[in-house]
Amino acid sequence: MSHSKIKMIYFDLDHTLWDFESNSKSALKLVYDNYKEIFNSVMQEDFIATYQKINVQLWDSYRKKEINQEELKILRFELTLKALNIKYDESLVKRINDFYLDVLSKQEKLIDGAKEVLDYLVGKYELGILTNGFRKTQLAKLKSSGIEKYFAILVSSEDTGSPKPDEKIFSFAQKVAGYLKEEIAYVGDDLENDILPAKKFGMQAIWFKNNSSFNDYLSVEDDIIVINNLSELIEIF
Ligand SMILES: [Mg+2]
Repeated sequence: MSHSKIKMIYFDLDHTLWDFESNSKSALKLVYDNYKEIFNSVMQEDFIATYQKINVQLWDSYRKKEINQEELKILRFELTLKALNIKYDESLVKRINDFYLDVLSKQEKLIDGAKEVLDYLVGKYELGILTNGFRKTQLAKLKSSGIEKYFAILVSSEDTGSPKPDEKIFSFAQKVAGYLKEEIAYVGDDLENDILPAKKFGMQAIWFKNNSSFNDYLSVEDDIIVINNLSELIEIF
């Protein structure tokens, strides 16, 4: 493998290091409890399932540049309340979103092995975060989960206005890091938004598949490294 020339490793944050699945669920439960009176007869599970479905669709629109981050923030709760037939106005939607982002960023569950791997890598490589999330929220997540200290650089899609998979954010990240493309590895969970564009740009792509069968239908080229557990990075580097 060509990792011998690697000097810097960028990580995706959500679903790669920070356990978005568990943490967002905990935060949505807190939203439900905090706004209990407006949810009235809506069950907590229905609220969470509706939100998650709408949120996935909106992130997809955001990556395709059909909507921007501000619209995404408002729409995900607006459309959820609408779908659940709950009366709302703009200020309620904004308050719910602010509350959600605040409690979300305080959640601290990491993907198994994350800390051990970062402890191993930090002395040997420069480490950075390359993420599509909101800068403030992503930084707060790094702090809450205790992994901020490992990273010299945080690149978010807010810095470039172009989210992954756009090449611009990879190019920006490379310039900020000051290394050659081929000296940088990128570890992410999403084949289409992290791995294929990182590889196309010229970085060493490492797909953290986390045993998911998602995207199994896509054939993975030989020079993409696939791992199912973060601890495998210790063997690779
Ligand atoms: Mg991710």
